[in-house]
Amino acid sequence: MIKVKQFIPQKVCLDCRGCCCRYAQKDTIWAPFFMREEILDLVEKNIVPSSLFSGIATQGNEVVRPRLTKYEDSFFCPCFDPKENKCKIYLYRPFDCQLYPFVLSQKDNMVYLAAAENCPYTQEVRAIEATEEYIQYLLGILSSDRFLQLVKKNPDLIQDYGQDVAYLFPLPKLSQVIHASSASHPQR
Ligand code: SF4
Ligand code: SF4
Repeated sequence: MIKVKQFIPQKVCLDCRGCCCRYAQKDTIWAPFFMREEILDLVEKNIVPSSLFSGIATQGNEVVRPRLTKYEDSFFCPCFDPKENKCKIYLYRPFDCQLYPFVLSQKDNMVYLAAAENCPYTQEVRAIEATEEYIQYLLGILSSDRFLQLVKKNPDLIQDYGQDVAYLFPLPKLSQVIHASSASHPQR
């Protein structure tokens, strides 16, 4: 599976009680996506029980969201430990979580690399030079043949996050893949 270098220092995320892994609603666009390959890998390595995704991974979708678990007033990714405030599968978390606070968002028929506005860290560092370097690194991954093939199989990795994200860079190659996928699956 594709591995993405962490953008935000781990300590910052461990101290954050923000919007990752926990959500105000049960059905939310911000819940993590798992690709079928990622689920199979996690189950095969006994990192998560297959029951975590039972009834979901077999529905024909290549990309699925796990059912969120209610804990106190919030809904959590089932891979999150709310008492320790950390991901139980951190080293194996899906691509979607590795990419965050960046996301792939579609707007006006174009796919963009975008930054989630709800992450406090992105608000602080967007203008720093180091961000430029990291974004170039991400653009390299996102335009690689390997990634384009993954998106072809998992087009739902691209969502429309509307006004909740800052649109950074257009990704024309990814857009072409998504449009080709829509043309061959017009029900999407
Ligand atoms: S909201 Fe941002 S800083 Fe907080 S845990 Fe998520 S990625 Fe880390
Ligand atoms: S897989 Fe881990 S990082 Fe991703 S939402 Fe779940 S708990 Fe958070």
